[in-house]
Amino acid sequence: MGEILVLVDHAGGRIRKPALELLTLARRLGTPAAVVLGAGESAAAIAATAGEYGAAKVYVADASEFADYLVVPKVDALAQIAQAASPAAVLVTSTGEGKEVAARLALRMGSGLITDAVDVAPGDAGPVAAQSVFAASYTVTSTVTRGIPVITVKPNATGSEAAPAAGQVEQVTVAFSEAAAGTRVVSRTPRASSGRPELTDAEIVVSGGRGVAGPGGFSVVEELADALDAAVGASRAAVDAGWYPHTNQVGQTGKQVSPQLYIANGISGAIQHRAGMQTSKTIVAVNKDPEAPIFDLVDYGLVGDLFEVLPQLTAEVKAR
Ligand code: FAD
Repeated sequence: MGEILVLVDHAGGRIRKPALELLTLARRLGTPAAVVLGAGESAAAIAATAGEYGAAKVYVADASEFADYLVVPKVDALAQIAQAASPAAVLVTSTGEGKEVAARLALRMGSGLITDAVDVAPGDAGPVAAQSVFAASYTVTSTVTRGIPVITVKPNATGSEAAPAAGQVEQVTVAFSEAAAGTRVVSRTPRASSGRPELTDAEIVVSGGRGVAGPGGFSVVEELADALDAAVGASRAAVDAGWYPHTNQVGQTGKQVSPQLYIANGISGAIQHRAGMQTSKTIVAVNKDPEAPIFDLVDYGLVGDLFEVLPQLTAEVKAR
């Protein structure tokens, strides 16, 4: 396969981990080419990191439109680069914004689109994407049959590893469409940071449910999360009760996570919760009810009171 365009998601002057995963994935499919948009003064450092992760070419575009408007300038830039480079595929991270960019790009190019892939493999007729559907009850593999395939890939679905490449940098001047002017950014206010990893990027997620029995009960969950450098998740029951913010909800109506390790505490394992975490690589549950449905899907289950088990786990992790 030829060039694989990867839209590089970045924040605070650094490439976000899911984009490094896309570059690693792109190496399995063809020759990775990174697209770095609106990175300003950090563009050179970001381009260098993209090169370290195997990008043979880095397209850099830095017009003010990337900051001034929402997704359309990114679509304009990607469409323009794709038209000139005729890549074998375009990979974008499966975030809310990533999926909007991908959908608009596919429409613009008259291409087929696959969203929320958990893996992409090379195939005879183009990349073959795997999606995990119906609360991970089925894996569907599909391939794009029209145009340049546009595929969004879930964070943590694949690993990221460095593999230095030439990292040739090409500056791109983008012609923006009228549509870019449709929505202007008025302000950007960062959410107060908890200091913990982003839920959807984290390698480890420690979650709490109704079993934590109140907002104060989350402290044992947070202590374990901090010992493991993990993100904190919550079931909808805990969120609806007002014990934890909705931004941390995992599940069908929350965030979908796929970490290396997911630890569910005081969570029964309803299908809507599973929908957000069932593709985690290793699942551990702590629940005092041995019949809890969560135990049907775990790799390791601990039957016990979370208020006794979690402090012991935390102490054990800290002792190592
Ligand atoms: P429960 O089901 O009440 O389970 C609590 C568990 O804690 C029990 O298994 C109990 O044995 C255990 N427990 C209690 N005390 C302790 C203790 N001291 N130590 C150890 N274990 C203990 N849910 C989501 O999570 N995410 C979603 O995105 C979501 N979306 C939904 C969308 C729709 C349209 C609908 C209808 C529902 C949705 N739900 C979602 C809700 C879902 O159906 C469940 O109601 C919810 O997941 C239950 O949360 P829970 O497991 O924390 O609570």
